[in-house]
Amino acid sequence: MTVIGAAGRLYIDGAWRGGQGAMRDVVNPATGKVVTTVPDATPAEVDAAVDAARRAFDSGAWSGLSGRERSRVLYRAAALIQEHAEELAQLETTDTGKPIQFSRMVDVGNTVTHFEYYAGLAYSIDGATRQTGMPALAYTVREPIGVVAAVTPFNFPMILSTSKIAPALAAGNTVVHKPAEDTPLTALRIAELLTEAGLPPGVLNVVTGGGPVGESLVRHPGVDKVAFTGSTAVGRRIASAAAETLKPVTVELGGKSAQIVFADADLDAAGQAAVSGFVFNTGQFCMGGTRLLVQRPVYDEMVTRVVGGAVHVPVGDPLSPETVVGPMAGQRHLDKVRGYVELAASEGATIAAGGGRVDTLDGYYFAPTVITDVDQGSRLVQEEIFGPVVTVQPFDTEQEAIAMANGTSFGLAAGLHTRDVARAHRVAGKLKAGMVWVNTWGMLDVTVPFGGYKQSGYGREYGPEGLHEYTQTKSVLLPLT
Ligand code: NAD
Repeated sequence: MTVIGAAGRLYIDGAWRGGQGAMRDVVNPATGKVVTTVPDATPAEVDAAVDAARRAFDSGAWSGLSGRERSRVLYRAAALIQEHAEELAQLETTDTGKPIQFSRMVDVGNTVTHFEYYAGLAYSIDGATRQTGMPALAYTVREPIGVVAAVTPFNFPMILSTSKIAPALAAGNTVVHKPAEDTPLTALRIAELLTEAGLPPGVLNVVTGGGPVGESLVRHPGVDKVAFTGSTAVGRRIASAAAETLKPVTVELGGKSAQIVFADADLDAAGQAAVSGFVFNTGQFCMGGTRLLVQRPVYDEMVTRVVGGAVHVPVGDPLSPETVVGPMAGQRHLDKVRGYVELAASEGATIAAGGGRVDTLDGYYFAPTVITDVDQGSRLVQEEIFGPVVTVQPFDTEQEAIAMANGTSFGLAAGLHTRDVARAHRVAGKLKAGMVWVNTWGMLDVTVPFGGYKQSGYGREYGPEGLHEYTQTKSVLLPLT
């Protein structure tokens, strides 16, 4: 097991420093054993990280480079991450419990792609010229914002930090990153690799610790922009803290996404999408398809398919290449899921599959769980469970399905399965979600923006939209007379 650079230190100003705060255990969720310890950054260490980022920004050592020069460093970063792919995948799996096949393909793969994509876009951070009603030349330039605070969750540590760090750096900003307290390891290792790729000291800093460290960063007067992914409750708090100093914020928050299966759908494909939609990443997926809405004529058949799929998903050691569902990321996550399943029992819902811990395995394993006979108003349907749990509800008409799909406070993603092309477009247009999938679930690509409607947040990551979140527009006017 690789232990990153300097256990017990923070990554500030291009080197391992600090580490004066209380130490926190990092636990392997598959075994419950301590892997290493990381410090909670002290207020002085948060100051040091922000100061380093501020100096690096103001010096122009990064923001003053041409897009082409920044691009070269980011391409080198992508190549170095690729070179260290297996090491990073093992680290991610040990830290999060996610199956190694996904750490390799999805997490490391997307991290490399993000650096490559935004390295390319660093070349084309263009403004516009405008024809005014005056005899004047008017043009706009997109400039970096300054010091970015990136605060990220536990479920996709590498991808969700890279989806902020890569565009922020491409645009010329500097960054202080606070990864989740449960899963900080790849963030520290990647910061080291970026320095090796040629990033000047202070351009990317990593401070570890829990919510209070994140909050002191968000409130810090030296921070110019906040990028957050995490729960809706914390996102609300962050948006309000950032408002005090009017920092721009992007918040990518929770979800409770519906997959609608119409009676004319290809039920083989819909069944597969339904199962992978709620078990992927052990259900710790903001865009999980955790509410299955099925048109009544095919309801019984879909329940049978989903239950059959759920009980046959390979659950086990995340380091085994066959494993599809690993352990939950920690005890608190397991307890939360268990609480919801107890609620289902107390409400008289039916647990059609799973419903408890996997007793044959050590670690925080929860069996893929299918719940039927549940009301739209139940907390099981309204709240994010964030584990391998799906509810299944019947519907009769298209209008009813749309109302049920839209009938929560979230709006991150939605999906529908039908062979009727006109219906696909009609329903996609009515779903209040930032991402809609037709006859599939979970397709993401770095070129395609994603983010939430309603209480799933605002701002977009991925695509050119994801880069623009890290720029501000300056207009320049020059009289021609
Ligand atoms: P969380 O909100 O508990 O924590 C996220 C991060 O915020 C962590 O680094 C945490 O230490 C920090 N934090 C906590 N309190 C803070 C405060 N007051 N000020 C500043 N920072 C604070 O989320 P989590 O449990 O790590 O992750 C799961 C949640 O993230 C789910 O709700 C999931 O839907 C969401 N998520 C959303 C997306 C998306 O793109 N929309 C992607 C992944 C996860």
